[in-house]
Amino acid sequence: MDLTLSQMMTKRSEIKKKINLIIDLQKNGVESSEILKVMEEVDRQIFLEESLKPKSYENIALPIDCGQTISQPLIVALMTQYLDIKKEMRILEIGTGSGYQTFILSKLARFVYTVERHKFLSIKAYNLLKELGVSNVFCKHGDGGLGWKDQAPFDRIIVTACAQDIPGRLVEQLSENGKMIVPIGDEHNDQILKKISKKEGKLIVHDLVNVRFVPLIEGKEN
Ligand code: SAH
Repeated sequence: MDLTLSQMMTKRSEIKKKINLIIDLQKNGVESSEILKVMEEVDRQIFLEESLKPKSYENIALPIDCGQTISQPLIVALMTQYLDIKKEMRILEIGTGSGYQTFILSKLARFVYTVERHKFLSIKAYNLLKELGVSNVFCKHGDGGLGWKDQAPFDRIIVTACAQDIPGRLVEQLSENGKMIVPIGDEHNDQILKKISKKEGKLIVHDLVNVRFVPLIEGKEN
């Protein structure tokens, strides 16, 4: 495909922004070369509305439909790193949102089950992932607080909305030796990202970093 000079300049500036973003991730604790590679390969623009596309490689959360947000790339990369995913694993994600984190998980795991309470977002993400040729993601419109019982247990669970307490239903759906990453706190303050590991039926909880997420809300929206 032949590009005009202005298209070439735009492309070059995009590549530069992307490289800067990857350097930023590395500087801020993303050490896994596999995750850095996936972050580099994934085009965040695809998950954004037209007017926000120029901001896609800025390391910030941005608005999406239904008053929600696409997560900040650094937080997506760190949460993915904390999950410690192995290729054969089955992952449960709560809060599909734009599908950006889902897409990254799909590159690293065997299967991803993702639940979103807004029907509009769930369908949009499903269609987008299908367009991108993703075949190992299952999308569900529902209350993620309830998990996905039929498909449990999961090797890893990631919650991309902030819960007030460790969600009990999700803990039940975590396999032995499983790990869950979940932001805990209230929506108006910094929240603490927690890692919950299940060992011999017991839970081990670690505090990771401060984060800001939209709240996990009970029920679903049509
Ligand atoms: N990882 C997503 C983040 C989306 S923001 C991205 O990068 O695009 C968090 C999402 O969680 C929102 O879309 C919100 O609607 C959803 N959410 C909040 N409470 C939920 C619940 N109980 N069940 C399922 N999804 C929920």
